[in-house]
Amino acid sequence: MTPSISPISKTAFLKYDQCSKAFFFYKKHPYLRDKISKEKQFTFNRGHNVGHLAQQLFPGGVDVSEKVKNSKSAFELTQQLIKENIHTIYEATFIFNGVLVMVDILHFDGTTWIAYEVKSSLKISEAYIKDASLQYYVLKNSLENFSDLFLVTLNGNYVFENELDLKQLFKKRSIKIGAEENLDFFSNTIEQMNLVLERNAIPDIPIGKQCFSPYDCDFLGTCWKNTQTEKSIFKIGKSDRDQLFALYFSGADTVDKIDLTSDLKPNIKIQANCINTGEAFINKIEIKEFCEKIKGNFCFLDMEVWSPAIPKYNGTTPFEQIPFLFSICYKEKNEIVFKNYLKPIESDSRELFLLELLKAIDGFDTILVFDKNLESQVLGKLCNLFPSHKKEIDKVRAKMIDLSEPIQNFNFYHPKFNGNFSLKAVAGIFNEQSGYASLEIASGIVAMHKYEGLLTEESEIISQQTKQQLMEYCNLDTLTCQRFFEYLQEKIKE
Ligand code: SF4
Repeated sequence: MTPSISPISKTAFLKYDQCSKAFFFYKKHPYLRDKISKEKQFTFNRGHNVGHLAQQLFPGGVDVSEKVKNSKSAFELTQQLIKENIHTIYEATFIFNGVLVMVDILHFDGTTWIAYEVKSSLKISEAYIKDASLQYYVLKNSLENFSDLFLVTLNGNYVFENELDLKQLFKKRSIKIGAEENLDFFSNTIEQMNLVLERNAIPDIPIGKQCFSPYDCDFLGTCWKNTQTEKSIFKIGKSDRDQLFALYFSGADTVDKIDLTSDLKPNIKIQANCINTGEAFINKIEIKEFCEKIKGNFCFLDMEVWSPAIPKYNGTTPFEQIPFLFSICYKEKNEIVFKNYLKPIESDSRELFLLELLKAIDGFDTILVFDKNLESQVLGKLCNLFPSHKKEIDKVRAKMIDLSEPIQNFNFYHPKFNGNFSLKAVAGIFNEQSGYASLEIASGIVAMHKYEGLLTEESEIISQQTKQQLMEYCNLDTLTCQRFFEYLQEKIKE
């Protein structure tokens, strides 16, 4: 029989598990949800693609989601397919105790039904286990001959060679033992969830650490609206969230209410002072020392990497970082010059990327990079891949200086950072955030996905536009570095 009430989805359950207010908003006031960012959307799409590929572990199944539009019909179709002895069902839909789950893959092995939940990830998190255990609870109570549920993730040790070996690409782990132990937890929680809906009042939950764990909540825009003041305490970054919430709930919702003589970390005091006064903090002695490290000809370097969940090139593993774009920026006769290279996606050609990079930075004595971890890792990997270039790569690494060092060490802080320490935040000093905002590609994650899109893009015009946008984005990163360095130099002269 088809359940008649509007069921609670797995997403709704996970929201409740994070915060009952988020669950209530999700069910009763969904219009309050924050707009989905491009980055989040790309992550969803990637998950969908990986899930789709994993279906081929059990080929020839029927995809319920392709045949029906709503959850009621999906439930009915699943029941019908089971009756018809269809042995593999994708997005099989079940409802028990008012909870609806859609199982990525459901397979009958001749004796029992086994479910598979696919995650586009290398690791299994607590949140994944809870999500899968809820599905287990529903299946256990609504599917005859159900025996087990496996979490399927990507195998970080799989090395692609010529064609995908799906059995090696994915790995699976049963969650049966833990799920069996937690069946009561789900019954009790569902009861409490129904009570929240019946009460029909917004749960009185203040903002707190739960807003970001295990995921950033979808209702931050609503709940955090009142904290978005000019001097909000939450504009302090790199700090212990417990301490910030303790201050906030003790009445110090803005930095001017913090007792700066109290026992607070120096970096919190620096940030609070800057937000209070609207003035930047600069440790001139340290910044001068930093600037003096930059010798001779110098340039600014930025790289972009692509981490495909499904490896595309021989010898690579899932999520391996493939460098695909670099920009260098420097001044020549007082003019800004850019050099960049975008690796074609169709072929690996990382050696060509390396050669282009070595050529572009040849002749520079110092190479400034904002947060050099990524670039160092990429060069390390290229060195392993192409040991004949080791000497040149080592020289480049020795010339690299991290431009984020003064910020990381709190020798420089600007109130416009708003607790964010990225290059995009630095751009805010020059009102350049609007520069990023006006770009089609304004973050590394979007750049990565746009690049990946070139693999399937059929229109030559759109491909060319995307390539242009990628280079503009990377150039703006190096230009921001250049401006920041000049800004620091000016500041120590003042
Ligand atoms: S923003 Fe925080 S308090 Fe508000 S619904 Fe989300 S988790 Fe709950």
